[in-house]
Amino acid sequence: MAQLSIGDFLIDCVVDLERPFLHAQTFFPDLTDDMFAHCRQLLPKADLAPDGRLQMRFQSFLLRTGRHTILIDTCCGNGKHRPGRDDFDHLDTNYIGALAELGVRPEQVDLVMCTHLHWDHVGWNTKLVDGKWVPTFPNARYIISRTEYDHWNARFQRGEQGIHLISFEDSVLPVIREGRAVVVEDTYEFDKGIWLEPCPGHSPGHVLINLMSNGSHALASGDVIHHRIQLAFPELSTIADSDRALARTNRTALIERLADTPSILVPAHFPPPVFGRIVRSEQGFAHAPVNG
Ligand SMILES: [Zn+2]
Repeated sequence: MAQLSIGDFLIDCVVDLERPFLHAQTFFPDLTDDMFAHCRQLLPKADLAPDGRLQMRFQSFLLRTGRHTILIDTCCGNGKHRPGRDDFDHLDTNYIGALAELGVRPEQVDLVMCTHLHWDHVGWNTKLVDGKWVPTFPNARYIISRTEYDHWNARFQRGEQGIHLISFEDSVLPVIREGRAVVVEDTYEFDKGIWLEPCPGHSPGHVLINLMSNGSHALASGDVIHHRIQLAFPELSTIADSDRALARTNRTALIERLADTPSILVPAHFPPPVFGRIVRSEQGFAHAPVNG
């Protein structure tokens, strides 16, 4: 498994699932037949299933700084009711085993940071014990950004329905009730070299997580960029973006900012090769993988 070094920080993928998701032209409504054909030529073969569905990983990143053991995003989780998402309903994955293979037990995790509070980024926040959802990482502080929390909490309090409200109830509220959550400003700096940066559009309070050590920089980008298709065509927003115009603006600005710099993208849903730089190319931008 690829491991990324950023100065003194070590970053590993912890994979919950990897599978074809929606068809590319369903997920990206503005992806034309011509653009899609072009992507088939440009991208690694494994990025698209033969039937045109997007190959996607649902993965956390284990960040070991020497001082702290941190998980960035917590994927889907086991045993959760996800109506309308049959492929993700009541999962039984080996996520905790994957963490163990990296030498980490749940009680050793100091901090859980979520880029946003969608169902596929908060799932392993909790596990089911005796019919009750309890924090999976009993000693961790769960860092949640203010705008994102306020948005979903307000919708939950209004009694709104939907998959992200169901996950708010089974994967976010239990860590709040147990006193494990810390709601922070969207620009919060946790420790030297680890700070949040607002990047709304996919969700109202989506944050990037900046990681900097000894002059090296990486950026956990959550769902600002879902798939390598969006490097070739940064203008493509997804049906999952709550504000597609804002998502387009912020995604394009981020890609342009990172392009041809040494910063390494740490994207939530890329299948291998996961880690890489962004470079300008003939067709928009491209991914230049590092460490496999
Ligand atoms: Zn996601």
